[in-house]
Amino acid sequence: MNIHEYQAKQLFEKFGVASPRGIVASTAEEAGKAAREIGGPGLVVKAQVHAGGRGKGTFKNGFKGGVHVVDTPEQAEEIAGQMLGQTLVTHQTGPEGKLVSKVLIAKAVDITKEYYFAILFDRVSSNHAIIASTEGGMNIEEVAEKTPEKITKEFINPALGLQPYQCRKVAASLGLQGPLANQAVKLFSALWNLYLKADCSLVEINPLAITTDGQVVALDAKFNFDDNALYRQKDVTAMRDTTEEDPREVAASEFGLNYIGLDGNIACLVNGAGLAMSTMDIIKFHGGEPANFLDVGGGATKEQVTAAFKIILGDPKVEGILVNIFGGIMDCDIIANGIIAAAKEVSLTIPLVVRLEGNNVEAGKATLAASGLKITSASDLTDAAQKIVAAVKAA
Ligand code: GDP
Ligand code: MG
Repeated sequence: MNIHEYQAKQLFEKFGVASPRGIVASTAEEAGKAAREIGGPGLVVKAQVHAGGRGKGTFKNGFKGGVHVVDTPEQAEEIAGQMLGQTLVTHQTGPEGKLVSKVLIAKAVDITKEYYFAILFDRVSSNHAIIASTEGGMNIEEVAEKTPEKITKEFINPALGLQPYQCRKVAASLGLQGPLANQAVKLFSALWNLYLKADCSLVEINPLAITTDGQVVALDAKFNFDDNALYRQKDVTAMRDTTEEDPREVAASEFGLNYIGLDGNIACLVNGAGLAMSTMDIIKFHGGEPANFLDVGGGATKEQVTAAFKIILGDPKVEGILVNIFGGIMDCDIIANGIIAAAKEVSLTIPLVVRLEGNNVEAGKATLAASGLKITSASDLTDAAQKIVAAVKAA
């Protein structure tokens, strides 16, 4: 799960991470009021979308830049009016862009230098890691590719946590000394505390800025949270903005389905994450492209199967469906009835291949065969994948 920058600022405040004051606004009028409250001269107006690269982005109506530094509250109000209700396209939004329905008004600072600083979970080393660079405000992937020597990596042992010497080491690697180094060390440990307590998997500050009056401040914030920990993060969950998410994934989560949309044309409906992954692999092995990952869970109900069908069919790219269910806890005949009910309810017209195995499988297969629907039955994984790939190619 992600949050907006204005929400990140609330977390910064709670955990003592230095960052300029900001107020969120949904209308130009509110933005003007916020700007007068913060007070000029020097304000920054920032489009609030779940994507980076806003500064260099362009609105679909031609207006340039999702981040503007202005002098007066009147200018802030006018710029907010240009952004609100418009669609911003950045290198992270994809060509469809993202609708801006909120802007952040913050006190602008005078910057002497910009850095990159992030804490994230590093799966390869099973550690947390700090990534820092003197090349702030830029696309970090590009820095990593072209000038990898400008990136510092510091691993954090999860049992020990971030140690003070590590903060000093990272600050030194960025060339910070004296009071600036002290402030940076304080900011790094506050951010680590926030990362850990809020169950983040990424906090990225780009840029971390040094101001002309000698302050070290976080000027931007990108957060990712561990979805599996959201149950114990009520404050974070309350910040969720489902309008920023894939509507198919939002619908799936309402029905307790694990769904991730992909780019192919063969939809998969599977129980169990491992089986779902094997199913996607074998579709690819036989020359097809999966349209999604979908795990309906071990004890899927008829309602869940129907919801799953509807979500799958809501994707215009889908040209065929492969159902692969192992009846371990569940009875295959109940699943077969669920599939039939769902196929009828959504008036299925595209090819459907069903592979059932396990508990009461014979009855399940007989139910499918007697349904009168055009359902192709498959005997095993290979057979199922070959049949759906062929059916989609023929269609
Ligand atoms: P992003 O483009 O989505 O990453 O948005 P950022 O929040 O990083 O803003 C883009 C750029 O705007 C930053 O790299 C800064 O150079 C600039 N910027 C943001 N806030 C301020 C500010 O308070 N003062 C000044 N002078 N520049 C700012
Ligand atoms: Mg940035």
